[in-house]
Formats: sequence, structure tokens, C-alpha cells
Amino acid sequence: MGLSRNILLWASQNKYLLKHVPNYKFVRKALKRFMPGEDLEEAIAAARLLKANSTPTVFTYLGESVKDLNEAGEVRDHYIALFEKIAAAKLDIEISVKLTQLGLDLSAESTYRNLKAVADKAVALRNMVWIDMERSNYVDATIDLYKKIRKDYANTGLCLQSYLRRTKKDVEDLLPISPSIRLVKGAYNEPKEIAFPEKRDVDTNYFELSKMLLKGASGNGARIAFGTHDTILHQQVIKAAGEMGIRRDMVEIQMLYGIKVNEQERLAAEGYNLRVLISYGKAWYKWYVRRLAERPANIGFVLKNIFTS
Ligand SMILES: Cc1cc2nc3c(=O)[nH]c(=O)nc-3n(C[C@H](O)[C@H](O)[C@H](O)COP(=O)(O)OP(=O)(O)OC[C@H]3O[C@@H](n4cnc5c(N)ncnc54)[C@H](O)[C@@H]3O)c2cc1C
Repeated sequence: MGLSRNILLWASQNKYLLKHVPNYKFVRKALKRFMPGEDLEEAIAAARLLKANSTPTVFTYLGESVKDLNEAGEVRDHYIALFEKIAAAKLDIEISVKLTQLGLDLSAESTYRNLKAVADKAVALRNMVWIDMERSNYVDATIDLYKKIRKDYANTGLCLQSYLRRTKKDVEDLLPISPSIRLVKGAYNEPKEIAFPEKRDVDTNYFELSKMLLKGASGNGARIAFGTHDTILHQQVIKAAGEMGIRRDMVEIQMLYGIKVNEQERLAAEGYNLRVLISYGKAWYKWYVRRLAERPANIGFVLKNIFTS
């Protein structure tokens, strides 16, 4: 992986930058490309526009690693209230949560209770809860909690990352419980002992895992979503699915708001099964710098806003 990616991922964890960068006007302006706004209402307005284009969405309320359980409880209540709002507005919006925002650094028990309360509301309103995958030190705890919640809640899904060397084993381990999986490449800075350092290996593993998931999922009700903007992988996965007798409208692709928008519009217009993830909230710094790290050329776009702010 490139030097600029590593520097940006370092910056995403830097406390000084976290405190100061969000105040720069040009950064806030550039942020608009990746999120409609900090407020939930702005995210809902964007979801309405996407709905008009036949594209359902997933919402993430930004934030991670909360420092006390009251804060985790507020996040839980935020999502519960959000489900009510979604139902009232008759929108197709699922949610994706970070377990460290529901208290994972503090107590696995409390995190499970928070997750269960959110999943209960989702069941009542026929909705779905996705679980993000965070840094590699959280993978075991995240998978354990997913296995526990999946026993009673089929309306929950888990994100897995193809850059991790362990993921093939995790997929083998999870398939018997009919998991819903969102497969991504992975967004954090990980040591080479844990994650493939070369992009081509991450991509090759993504395709291998995709085939395992499509094969393992067919017939047992699991939902598999491909969370990537990589159009070559989209084509490879759709082709592999076709060879397994899975229709292309059954192959779900998930992409992030603002990234490869032309491709999103094309997929939606051609009847592919696309869902767009929209993030909102004030705690956007770490998340935003990870987006910049995915394509360091994005920095040029941020800098351009210095001159137009
Ligand atoms: C729906 C969804 C949910 C996700 N959830 C998680 C999660 O829970 N945990 C996690 O670790 N990661 C998550 N990610 C992020 C993921 O791990 C990758 O970091 C991210 O998707 C970039 O990789 P890529 O698959 O698009 O492939 P890449 O090979 O990085 O990119 C493919 C193409 O898309 C373009 N592109 C990719 N990212 C950007 C960008 N930021 N700006 C402009 N162009 C871009 C590239 O230039 C390239 O042309 C999620 C991604 C998606 C789409």
C-alpha cells in the first residue's frame, strides 16, 4: 500500500489533527462531496433523492470508540428513533452500526444489549441492522457478538474485510449460521502479518471470498452484499453469480455516497441491485480521512477548496 495512504491513515488517528482540522472551512466544504451534511435531515433529503432514482440506502451515524456507556446509550436511542422516522417517511433505509460506538471498548455485555435493542426495533419495523467491521483488534469480539445476535435476529448482517488474511477462515466458520455479509476490502492501517499489503492480493482475496459467499449463501436465505466501488470486481462477481445460476438483480452492490456517482446511476438505471451508504453526524474527521486515504488524489480536491472557500 502507498506511502500517502499510510500517512493519511496515521492522520486519521492523530489527536491534534482531530481537534483542529474539522474547523477549517475548506475542509468542511470538501467534505460535502462524501456526505450530504452533518444533520440527519440532510441525510434523509439525500435518501429521498436517491429513492427517486430507485436506489435504497443505508445510514451510519458517525462516531466510534465512545468513552462512556451513557454515550453508547444515546447512540442506541438515536438509531431506535431513526427506525421510527424511516417507517413514518416510508423510506427504504437500513442502518449500519459500529460496535465501538455502542460500547465495545467498555463492555461486551452492554454492547450486546444495545445492539439487541436496536435489532428489536428493526424487527418490529421490518428493517435491517448491519454491523461495520473496525480495526483488526476488534474482529474477534465483533464476530462473537454477531454470532450471538444472529441466533435470534435474521435481520442482522456483518461486514468482513478482504485485506485480512484471516477472513477466509471467518467465512468458513460463519457460513453454517446463514450470515448476511457485506464484503469490503478494508479501510484501516494494518500490519502485513495481519493484512495483505499488496492491493492485487486484497482484490484476489475479495473475488475468492465473493465466490465462497455466493456459493455458501445460495439456498440458505443469507444476504450477501458487495461493498466496493471496484467496477472490475462488480463484473467478476456478477459473472460468477450468473455461472452459479444467481440472477444479476439478486447480486447486491453497496457503494458509498458521493463515490463513483456516474457508476451508481448507471447500475441503478440498468436495474442492478444497488444500495448507497450515507454517513452523517458531527464526528466525521476519522471517517473522512479514511475516505481520503482510499484515493489520495482526493487530497487535490480538498486543497482546491482553499481557493474557492
Ligand atoms: C457500503 C460500504 C461499507 C463499508 N464498510 C466498511 C466497514 O465496515 N469496514 C471497513 O473497514 N471498510 C468499510 N468500507 C470501506 C472499504 O473497506 C474500502 O476502504 C473502500 O470501499 C474503498 O475500496 P474499494 O473497494 O472501493 O476499492 P478500491 O480498489 O480502493 O477502489 C476502486 C475504485 O473506486 C475508487 N474509489 C475508492 N474509494 C474512493 C474514494 N474514497 N474516493 C474516490 N474514489 C474512490 C478508486 O479510485 C477506484 O477507481 C465500506 C465500503 C462500502 C462501499
